[in-house]
Amino acid sequence: MALDELYKEVILDHYKTPRNKRGLPGAEVSCKKNNPLCGDEITIRAHLSDGRVQEIAFEGQGCSISQASASMLTEAVDGKSVTEAAALAEKFRGMMEGKVEPEEDVFGDLVALRGVVKYPVRIKCAVLAWDVLQEALAGATTSARH
Ligand code: ZN
Repeated sequence: MALDELYKEVILDHYKTPRNKRGLPGAEVSCKKNNPLCGDEITIRAHLSDGRVQEIAFEGQGCSISQASASMLTEAVDGKSVTEAAALAEKFRGMMEGKVEPEEDVFGDLVALRGVVKYPVRIKCAVLAWDVLQEALAGATTSARH
């Protein structure tokens, strides 16, 4: 199977069987954003404690790339510290800008999204969930200071 085909399979699998797609009552952080260019919409909610992402879930609608990316995000970030999650978001952004070579052990299924780099209009779709995550986590850091 060609690598592109394999990537497509992984993306479709996350799209058809999204991981952690549900509400999360009592979540400490939540954020919602949309990508008007494509009609994608993503909400991310997380339980944080001791500076760690204890539980993370998403809800949303839109194209396969945006929803698969959100599903992969929740798997990648679950259990990580807020600092690690923020660092991963930066790395992912770097990969989508073609600046960071993806490391399979860090990115896991997320590597499949690198194929999207070839389609500039779809990059926003892939990055949307990560924008939401970064804003949600930034909110967490701000509220911790008060
Ligand atoms: Zn999209």
